[in-house]
Amino acid sequence: MEPFVLDKERGIFWIEPWREKFPQLLAGFTSRQLVPDDEYGNLAFHVGDDPEHVRANRRILSDIAGVPLTHMTCAIQPHGNRVVEITEALRGSGALELSSSIPDADGLVTKLSETLLTLFYADCVPLYFVDPTVQAVGVAHAGWRGTMQNMAKEMVLKFDEIFGSKPHNIHVVIGPSIGPCCYQVDEHVISEARKLLGIKIDAVAVPDGESHYRLDLKKTNRILLEREGILSSHIEVSHLCTSCHHHWFFSHRKEKGKTGRMAAFVIWKEDQI
Ligand SMILES: [Zn+2]
Repeated sequence: MEPFVLDKERGIFWIEPWREKFPQLLAGFTSRQLVPDDEYGNLAFHVGDDPEHVRANRRILSDIAGVPLTHMTCAIQPHGNRVVEITEALRGSGALELSSSIPDADGLVTKLSETLLTLFYADCVPLYFVDPTVQAVGVAHAGWRGTMQNMAKEMVLKFDEIFGSKPHNIHVVIGPSIGPCCYQVDEHVISEARKLLGIKIDAVAVPDGESHYRLDLKKTNRILLEREGILSSHIEVSHLCTSCHHHWFFSHRKEKGKTGRMAAFVIWKEDQI
């Protein structure tokens, strides 16, 4: 079953299976319909949008999360695999302007409640993490570069290192992103995948014309997570493709690089929602 369920009124896709399981957790994915009558719910500063417009859109999200905008925490995401723990001192980084963003992070984790972790996407894969036994949450950005640098593993390692999390206690959701239906890659990307996955490459890539393939980045991340000991029953995967559903999602590939960004967000609330 599709784990992301659309809240049409708010223009947000919620992670439905987590709502019941973790009543203090809010986690989801914004859509371009976050702003009614606007159809351009861009949440990132770096795409040439009016910063006032971005702040207004972000205020909508922080209101939904029930925190001041200054509790939203953002990073410059260089398609790497660096994970940063958000402490009190870092909370609110990049909320109001690009320049105060955490300079280099594609993964954010925290044990602080009321702290809105957000990363931005237009086709790349959002990974959501929660360890309810220690009340720690995280979000990661894994396009093909991040996936091939095993961002999934880095997150699991950081949960262990910082929070003492055991893999069997961690739950992960793999969110909406460009699907194998629309994601054609060349031999260079496939050779990276082969290095990472070995013989399992056939499970995630199918030939598509001469020296091209269609790659399933979500499934790749599932394999990487299971390899780190995350239980298969603790992993949910969205089937939503950001390139197929133009009405709801920005797609870097479909819109040839000129587009907005959705946010994957996660927040642990002090009280049950
Ligand atoms: Zn598609």
